[in-house]
Amino acid sequence: MAIQLTNRSKVASNKVQSFSERIYLPAIVKGMLITFSHLFKKAPTLQYPEQKREYAPVYRGQHVLKRDENGAERCTSCGMCAVACPAEAITMESGERKKGEEGLYREEKYATKYEINMLRCIFCGLCEEACPKEAIFLTDRIVDTEYERDTFVYGKDKLVEKMDQRIDVTKRETLEVAEFKKIPGTKHNTLYDGKALKKGKQ
Ligand code: SF4
Ligand code: SF4
Repeated sequence: MAIQLTNRSKVASNKVQSFSERIYLPAIVKGMLITFSHLFKKAPTLQYPEQKREYAPVYRGQHVLKRDENGAERCTSCGMCAVACPAEAITMESGERKKGEEGLYREEKYATKYEINMLRCIFCGLCEEACPKEAIFLTDRIVDTEYERDTFVYGKDKLVEKMDQRIDVTKRETLEVAEFKKIPGTKHNTLYDGKALKKGKQ
């Protein structure tokens, strides 16, 4: 005789199937009707890349390393972004700015090498938040597809914005950052607005 430890057990139903259940036809027709009804619904799929889905204004895509209003790289290779990165996707090497390189690098220390492994990155945006120099931002650009894993490690050639192709990141600015920039002592953090180059400040 089986021992019953609790009184929570349920007796399995042993219901005998009806004739219509045994021939499965009603169930098959019901399933086909559901499938058929989807023919008249709007398809949720898009014909990418001809059609592109709209992204949220705060979409976090490929990073950019910003230059200042004079065209110098803002990054000072402090490593804060690498420390903040939960995926350990960022690595860098530092160098000391030489005399005459003031137009290239804003601070005395700069990143001679800066890499982000896009396969490790989870696009959380913590590097952007950690950066004290407003040097790194995530943009609405999509990381390219590649065939080799190594090509997903993006160096400065892909991350630093081009002098003649500035990337607008103003929509990623918070109110606090905008207020911070109004302080005269932090004027070096002013975002590039296109005027500096035209005035020949570079
Ligand atoms: S977005 Fe997040 S995961 Fe990607 S590099 Fe920045 S901190 Fe790391
Ligand atoms: S991107 Fe910002 S946080 Fe990262 S090393 Fe450069 S200055 Fe520091």
